[in-house]
Amino acid sequence: MPRANQRHSSLYLHFPFCEAKCHYCDFYSIGREKTGSGDPDLFEQALLREIDLRGNRGDFSDRIETLFLGGGTPSMTPPDSMERIFKALFRWTSLAPVYEWTMEANPSSITRDRFKAYRELGINRISMGVQSLRSDHLQKLGRVHDEREALRALDSVFESGFTNVSTDLLCGVPGQTLDDLDSHIRGLTAFPLTHLSIYLLTLTPGHPMYRELPDENEQLAHLSFIHEKMTDLGFEHYEISNFAKPGHRARHNLVYWTGASYLGLGPSAHSFSLADRLRFRNPNSLHRWATPLLNENRLPVEDSEELTPEQQELEKWLLAIRLEEGFPKAWIDSDSRRKKVEILIKEGLLEPHPRMGDRLRATPRGFALSDALVRELS
Ligand code: SF4
Repeated sequence: MPRANQRHSSLYLHFPFCEAKCHYCDFYSIGREKTGSGDPDLFEQALLREIDLRGNRGDFSDRIETLFLGGGTPSMTPPDSMERIFKALFRWTSLAPVYEWTMEANPSSITRDRFKAYRELGINRISMGVQSLRSDHLQKLGRVHDEREALRALDSVFESGFTNVSTDLLCGVPGQTLDDLDSHIRGLTAFPLTHLSIYLLTLTPGHPMYRELPDENEQLAHLSFIHEKMTDLGFEHYEISNFAKPGHRARHNLVYWTGASYLGLGPSAHSFSLADRLRFRNPNSLHRWATPLLNENRLPVEDSEELTPEQQELEKWLLAIRLEEGFPKAWIDSDSRRKKVEILIKEGLLEPHPRMGDRLRATPRGFALSDALVRELS
């Protein structure tokens, strides 16, 4: 594997197990029915080894600023297993004085006691995959929880002492109306959430539900309704799909969205080393990831690529269009780009930034049509 000369202060750990595989899920995860009885132990042993190999190489910086436990469903991992994993990690590094340590959780794998145990470990932010508060839609999406369980889980998270809590919601679900979205947002924001991620459901053309997806106009109506509703409720629309109360933007995700470095551990985890402009990733398979670690004592990195100048340019625009801060006017460095920008402003897709005079940004409609914007500008 190419040497990455970066000491990382943002870490992602991928926990691959889920209770069931949701019908729309693209992440690498294994439903309970396909999980072998020894798989959780194998995962823990291999992750401990990966941590030690990374630690030995000097890949962790002295202070971790952001730590994200994703998956999969990390909240299925028993707290004693979590504790062993983090004891191993903190032999090599420690937490920065102000850190963000997020764990993704699903409503059906939550008890108050388990959450208290996670909090005692140091986890200080929860991201809960609610997706919908209509039980028939949840069932259609293949989720194992229903509305009551989702609300009970949110009660448990706050009762166990977490104060920095985000939830995920899906829009553009077949059959979903603006009234549904309104009542989901009202139901969720009745809790003191600091953050909400609202993603548009996307499916591949061969997917059984693909034909039922709303058309582009309806999707745009969903997205603009969500923007109005969430900003009225005092959330900042700071990224295409993300809304935060002031001071609660997701620090770890901002590392991805600003092109900074991060190190991923666990099956399918991706990494980026800014110092080398190098992307690399682990295999999308528990066994292909674990075998080199446990049998050959070597890192299982499967793929790596150094970004070309063209990829860097595309990436620069992709990232800038996603964020509320937008991009500096200095990037409009040719007549053809200037003309395109004028047209995009006339079409209501770009606008001068209201607080930063030297920048332009995507409008809410521009967020919804971000692929087209990037195509025009990059
Ligand atoms: S819970 Fe999340 S990671 Fe697991 S299958 Fe469902 S969408 Fe995928």
